[in-house]
Amino acid sequence: MPEGHTLHRLARLHQRRFAGAPVAVSSPQGRFADSAAAVDGRVLRRTSAWGKHLFHHYSGGGIVHVHLGLYGAFTEWERPAADPLPAPVGQVRMRMVGAAFGSDLRGPTVCEVIDESQVAEVVARLGPDPLRRDADPSWAWARIMKSRRPIGALLMDQTVMAGVGNVYRSELLFRHRIDPYRAGQQITEAEFAAAWTDLVALMKVGLRRGKIIAVFPEHDHGAPSYRPDRPRTYVYRRAGDPCRLCGTTVRTAEMEGRNLFWCPTCQS
Ligand SMILES: [Zn+2]
Repeated sequence: MPEGHTLHRLARLHQRRFAGAPVAVSSPQGRFADSAAAVDGRVLRRTSAWGKHLFHHYSGGGIVHVHLGLYGAFTEWERPAADPLPAPVGQVRMRMVGAAFGSDLRGPTVCEVIDESQVAEVVARLGPDPLRRDADPSWAWARIMKSRRPIGALLMDQTVMAGVGNVYRSELLFRHRIDPYRAGQQITEAEFAAAWTDLVALMKVGLRRGKIIAVFPEHDHGAPSYRPDRPRTYVYRRAGDPCRLCGTTVRTAEMEGRNLFWCPTCQS
């Protein structure tokens, strides 16, 4: 599942490519057709992201709200100099066509047109997003310090903190030597503050580079990644492999429906 930095990158890309001009919005697949008609041909005023939610704000007040979920993805394309436009491939829920670029959205969990008050309702359910300037970490800390739930689950709870997915969760806890099973109320304020600061920095790198980079150069000895085209990680998807620091076998277990990865020696 895409993590928060991916949505912020999309918001920036769509802002650069489409904002300030009318956008033809359609639903080649049909499922979004009625809603698309409400913003079709309107000027895209701006884009925004909060956690894993993306918003396209159009003139006239309509806002396209997208959550990619597990399988959703945008395909970005350059508009050919002469028509016709490329034929939609597969189930394209939403197609955006601007003067020079196009974008096709497939497989999202949410794709709807809402208004500002509904955006406020979506955002009210979300915790602070480390990539937003207005993020207030004290909100997340207030939830964590009182909770008996394991910190590994709290970090993934979008109402506690928005935008963190499994990779950032696993890697952040390793970087701070925190056992993912430790209860929120057993985390010290200093640990939380250090982890939040680190998370903001890590996610900014992800936003800039378009990939998650969590391993310090001094620990990056060229051991293979979990997939050839993916960055190296300390523990994420390295179950059964030796810990990069201590050699202990990295473990995995399911926590609240998602696979957790950790080093039982470094994070004890
Ligand atoms: Zn270790």
